[in-house]
Order: sequence, then C-alpha cells, then structure tokens
Amino acid sequence: MLNIVLFGPPGAGKGTHSVKLVADYEFVHFSTGDILRAEIAAKTELGLLAKSVMDKGELVSDDIVIGMMRNKIRQNKDAKGLVFDGFPRTTAQAEALDKLLEENGIAVSAMLMLDVEKQELIKRLQKRAEVSGRADDANIDIINNRIEVYNDQTLPIVDYYKNQNKFKPIDGLGTIEEIYDRIQAVIKTL
Ligand code: ADP
Repeated sequence: MLNIVLFGPPGAGKGTHSVKLVADYEFVHFSTGDILRAEIAAKTELGLLAKSVMDKGELVSDDIVIGMMRNKIRQNKDAKGLVFDGFPRTTAQAEALDKLLEENGIAVSAMLMLDVEKQELIKRLQKRAEVSGRADDANIDIINNRIEVYNDQTLPIVDYYKNQNKFKPIDGLGTIEEIYDRIQAVIKTL
C-alpha cells in the first residue's frame, strides 16, 4: 500500500495532482479542505465552527482535523493507497497521522512537496478565485495570511519527514503534465 502525503503551500497544485493520482493509481484521496467545506455546505456544527477560521486563512484546530481523519483511515485501510492533501498541516498532525496509520498496520510511504515560489502562488490563487467561489481565495490579505500560516506552522513538518527519510521535494513550476511526470517518477521509486 502506497500512502502519500502531498504537501505544499496553498495554490501549489495538491488538489490538481491528487485527482490525477486517484485516476491513475486508484488511490483514495483525503483533502481536509474539501471535507471541511462539505461540512460548511451541510451547515453542521463542525462546519459552522470551521468557517470563520477558514475564511480568515487560519488553521482549524488539530483536534478537529485529526478526529475527522480517524474514521476515514480506518474505513480505507485496504485501499491500494491513500493520498493526503492538506493534511498534516502541523507537526502535531504529522505525529497523529503516523499513530493513526500505525493503528491500522500501515504507514506513510513518502511526503512529496510541491515547491512553488510566493508570487506564482498568489497568481494561481487569484485566478482560482474567479471560479472557486472561496472567500479565502478572493482577498489578497487572506491569501498572504495563508502563505504566512503555511511558512510558520506547516513548513516545520519538512524536518519531521526528513528525519524519517521520507521527504521528496518536487519542482512545482511548469505545466501540469510536466509536474505530474515528476510526481510519477518519485512514486516509481517507492
Ligand atoms: P489551500 O491548501 O489551497 O489553502 P485547503 O482546501 O487545503 O486549501 O484548505 C483550506 C482551509 O481549510 C485552510 O486554510 C484551513 O483553514 C483549513 N484546513 C484544511 N486542512 C487543514 C488542516 N489539516 N489543519 C487545519 N486546518 C485545515
């Protein structure tokens, strides 16, 4: 079983490439952002709680997102593989993910980090705002805050995976096909 953490800043292309991996490898895709937005759309208690945090570009609490992932992992431990998109976003989440996988007799195979510079991220997110309808894409201050939150709270995870020899950086600039080829080249080595 291949379990991939697809990592990178907002706008790096995690969602785009997750969809391609699901189509080509029959992996199961977990996007915490998508799960949270579905909770918001369904107006659940969790959704209401998450919305104000997400609209500001801050992180939803570790307890909430870890709790969300617990059942999903248990239900899919016999899949061909799992793709984690937008999770983990803190070192506490990375530690929790290892524990949750271990409880099910599986483990992270690699963390693939899509590397994209800030100006390009801003360009992509502003373009996405035209179609996504996401409040957090529509405002430059919130976009900047998301990138700052990523740099402060999420980037430290790189060391966590480096220490486990699971860190695989990937150049995230170029066409979608070029980037996807690089992702597949790394997956072939796993
Ligand atoms: P992007 O990576 O493009 O910013 P996502 O859809 O992954 O978009 O996430 C949108 C928002 O959802 C985040 O800014 C954050 O508020 C919340 N969120 C998603 N995943 C997590 C997570 N693992 N931990 C905390 N908050 C999260």
